[in-house]
Amino acid sequence: FKEMAFSLPELPYSYDALEPHIDTKTMEIHHTRHHNLYITNLNNAIEGTPKENLSIEEICKIHSDNPAIRNNGGGHYNHSLFWEILSPDGGGNPVGNIADLITSSFGSYENFKEKFSTASMTRFGSGWGWLCQVNDHLEICSTANQDNPLMPGICNDESIPLIGLDVWEHAYYLNYQNKRVDYINAFFNLINWEKVNERIS
Ligand code: MN
Repeated sequence: FKEMAFSLPELPYSYDALEPHIDTKTMEIHHTRHHNLYITNLNNAIEGTPKENLSIEEICKIHSDNPAIRNNGGGHYNHSLFWEILSPDGGGNPVGNIADLITSSFGSYENFKEKFSTASMTRFGSGWGWLCQVNDHLEICSTANQDNPLMPGICNDESIPLIGLDVWEHAYYLNYQNKRVDYINAFFNLINWEKVNERIS
């Protein structure tokens, strides 16, 4: 019923908090229009179906031939994660468990940045770059549109997404125009490593 429907999560910071890396107008439009529309469309797509009672993670983990559920379910999950792992106090070198996992999986933080940037940069068209926990190590992948690593057959099926970077043009075009690489470089100044550590299981 209505109380089970998904709703737009509040951001843990203000729309202008991520300046100059992500501008105020982009944050406001991205949250109140793009993310909100995914939620509205998802709620409409699952209303009256058994999926109505599932968590957003469960919805993503079940293969769906219904593009409205796949695209909007992914859209809601992906953006919720994205807002969570950004912070005006973020960036810098990783700390805690994620620092150790990055070193053991990629050799160094610099190598991780290079691999993550390449995955995000080479995703043609709209999509996402991901850092995932796969059992005892980390893997990097990218997905098209609003797909994500929870969806079967997309990345490693054991993936637990830790970091997701939105590389749709709507995420950066006002400030960076076509320069996706500058937006990706700026993103590393915003990663909330404490939140990333909380996502490790
Ligand atoms: Mn987006």
